[in-house]
Amino acid sequence: MIVKPKTRGFICITSHPDGCAAHVQEQIDYVKSKGPVEGGPKNVLVIGSSTGYGLASRIVPAFSSGANTLGLFFEKPGTEKRTGTAGWYNSAAFEKAATEAGLYAKSLNGDAFSHDMKAKAVEMIKNEMGPIDLVVYSLASPRRINPDTGEDHRSVLKTTGGEYTNKNLNTDKGEIEEVTIGAATQEEIDNTIKVMGGEDWELWMTALDEAGVLAEGVKSVSYSYIGPELTWPIYTEGTIGMAKKDLEVVCERLNDKLVTKYNGSAYVSVNKALVTQASSAIPVVPLYISILYKEMKAQGLHEGCIEQIQRLFADRLYGADLQLDDSKRIRIDDLEMRADIQAAVAKSWDAISNENLADLADFDGYKEEFLKLFGFGLDGVDYDADTDPTFSPASIPS
Ligand code: NAD
Repeated sequence: MIVKPKTRGFICITSHPDGCAAHVQEQIDYVKSKGPVEGGPKNVLVIGSSTGYGLASRIVPAFSSGANTLGLFFEKPGTEKRTGTAGWYNSAAFEKAATEAGLYAKSLNGDAFSHDMKAKAVEMIKNEMGPIDLVVYSLASPRRINPDTGEDHRSVLKTTGGEYTNKNLNTDKGEIEEVTIGAATQEEIDNTIKVMGGEDWELWMTALDEAGVLAEGVKSVSYSYIGPELTWPIYTEGTIGMAKKDLEVVCERLNDKLVTKYNGSAYVSVNKALVTQASSAIPVVPLYISILYKEMKAQGLHEGCIEQIQRLFADRLYGADLQLDDSKRIRIDDLEMRADIQAAVAKSWDAISNENLADLADFDGYKEEFLKLFGFGLDGVDYDADTDPTFSPASIPS
């Protein structure tokens, strides 16, 4: 099959198997170039491991401390007629590369919120891996079916105050327009917390603890975002921000438990705003990211998921100093939040219009990175050649 990108709004409905593999290889090469992370984890479970921050969280321990990994995700395999999702191909490529490097790398495809997936993961860990010393929880999901009640919770991206209007980048048209975001009802806030809050992370840790598959000194980490004031109404003070607050409350509880029982720890790491499938769906954020990229690239400070997670592992989680903030969070958004970067971004934000978009924002960089998420625009990939859409993770053939 010859595969070309087909974008629909903030999603690309095709993905390129060889391109995704090249994207994964690029990240592996980066991690290898940084050398080993001494004392890094050896037996890792990543929940949400197929794209974005979760994929990077699988690649870094595998290729910096030789970790065996079990990755869990919700992706679609390809068929002879239709391409699979990028996360499917990423996972196929990761498994192949990790196995060739002599590492255990298997995957589970299904709903992480279900009891069934937790039971399957526990079984694989018990039978094939041995106790886990790092659990990364990196889900970004629009919905969660409660496995006990069958209730279907849908997350929303709304404010928790009044209506909020700001600039927005229509990424299809490449034009700046205004967007007005409505206020959520209490029910919508509660549902968003159910989906993106800490409850399921805690359920996972409880299942692993009760099954006796956590190692002495086990660490667990989940990801959050804060960002500048201009995005607060839609993010930090919006419905998603309420879910992230819940994540922090759960983290404290988990940390107490892991410290007591395993001499372990749990953290929330606040990461940089980056182009991923999840973030491209949030209003206002793509314009902010485009301006941020311009500024951070100009200052030589730009990082993608892999650079962020490499720094998280090498310098913080397994490094000399976690550098926790007042709320005991790890802050690898430190470069994004630097006062000079934020002052420059705020100035551009006020001044930006359709006329000066190319000068004040890196929209080309945004588009490039967005397409790369689906395996397009990678060096060395022949996009006119036939590619196999049924490329699958060896541990779960399609
Ligand atoms: P992403 O969309 O790239 O990845 C989401 C992952 O979750 C994928 O592996 C997907 O398969 C998996 N997933 C979704 N629903 C699932 C389900 N029901 N069962 C099993 N797997 C499921 O997202 P991302 O941007 O990497 O986000 C990961 C985390 O990082 C989120 O908590 C997000 O809030 C946080 N974060 C993101 C940014 C950013 O700018 N992208 C910044 C800071 C923090």
